[in-house]
Amino acid sequence: MSVRVRFAPSPTGRLHVGNIYVALNNWLFARQRGGSFLLRLDDTDVERSTAEFAAGIETDLTWLGLTWDVFARQTERIVAYDAAAEKLKASGRLYPCYESAEELALKRKVQLGQGKPPVYDRAALKLSAEDRAKLEAAGQKPHWRFKLEGRRVEWNDLVRGPEHIDAASQSDPVLIRADGTYLYTLPSVVDDIDLGVTQVIRGNDHVTNTATQIQIFEALGGTAPGFAHLPLLVDAAGEGLSKRLGSLSISDLRAQGLEPMALNAYLAHIGTGEPVLPVRHLDELIAKHDLGKFGKSSPRFDPAELLHLNARLLHLLPYDEAKPHLVALGLGEVDVALWEVARANVEKIEEIGEWHRICRGAIAPHLADSSFAAAAADVLPPEPWDDGTWKNWTEAVKAATGRKGKDLFMPLRLALTGLEHGPELRLLLPLIGREKTLRRLRGESA
Ligand code: GLU
Repeated sequence: MSVRVRFAPSPTGRLHVGNIYVALNNWLFARQRGGSFLLRLDDTDVERSTAEFAAGIETDLTWLGLTWDVFARQTERIVAYDAAAEKLKASGRLYPCYESAEELALKRKVQLGQGKPPVYDRAALKLSAEDRAKLEAAGQKPHWRFKLEGRRVEWNDLVRGPEHIDAASQSDPVLIRADGTYLYTLPSVVDDIDLGVTQVIRGNDHVTNTATQIQIFEALGGTAPGFAHLPLLVDAAGEGLSKRLGSLSISDLRAQGLEPMALNAYLAHIGTGEPVLPVRHLDELIAKHDLGKFGKSSPRFDPAELLHLNARLLHLLPYDEAKPHLVALGLGEVDVALWEVARANVEKIEEIGEWHRICRGAIAPHLADSSFAAAAADVLPPEPWDDGTWKNWTEAVKAATGRKGKDLFMPLRLALTGLEHGPELRLLLPLIGREKTLRRLRGESA
């Protein structure tokens, strides 16, 4: 059977790094095996799902290169869920319940007070057909619970190893609300069966759902797929990312100028115990992917480390690949020489704009010592210039002024670039050119 995995976000918000951590692991798993990747929108929560968020999911995945082979939307598959619900009702595995939220809360309180686990007592199973008819005649609409078999459910988790959950310790889960809408649990299983999902790779917040869902797969006559539960990302302080997710949405990271491969390479490495490397192509990540490398402990997502990786990727980015991005940023005239000199000094590609201005545009005067600058200007070699010009020039400046080391280099760097740091002046000087250099040494804007 060929491998098919799925990424199943709800279009109730923008995707964030935690979602992509799950999406990427699914995608890499599929691609490594020549399998297929399904994008499924879990949009049954019609109040909170929007077309805009759905479009945002597609935009973000496309930007990252995580293309999908099959697409499904849960709201278009309600007929299939209805059929599955009927089947479960017919076999007695889905039963109507009439307790209100207050009644259920009270039951739980009593159970806890008696030191018992707050598991649903299945009182509704004891209702006769007459009892139910009476309740319905009084306008009560049932919600529907799945009758769990009170046994140990076991699976060999592709991330966590052998897992088991004692279903007897769980309440029968509600699959259908009183208004007839589905909770996520049943539609997900029906989709996984109908769309041929072979492995469910998701966050470990779903571990307890897995026990229930394995029983639903079996009750519907399907075979449960394999399961992998990835640990959830935490921030540098070890806290869950949920509070900061707003700032870690993919659209914001994109707007901040991050490279998609920085995000992919970072998210593919964290949690594996392997060093974070500037991998430039998804193919390389596919080759190395192994769910077995992830442990149970939560990977730390550190935005500073991500930015550092972004910088390392830019340093390796060939001009031909950078060019479309430079054009998109409105920096179309950045030439290959400038790119190759400046790329090592930027963390985000848009920062090339500053070096472009310094080399090809104009900067304000930055003269600390105009007589020193004038002496340096007097010995400026004639063009053509190359990367040996700087050495010749600074030796001449040293001979003329007696200055050396930082006292010599820093005023020149400041006069020429306006900045204390940057690419080697040996490489910058020919890009700035003689005319601008002379004018900057005279304290002119140039
Ligand atoms: N929509 C669910 C979620 O985002 C999908 C969980 C699953 O992968 O089964 O949590």
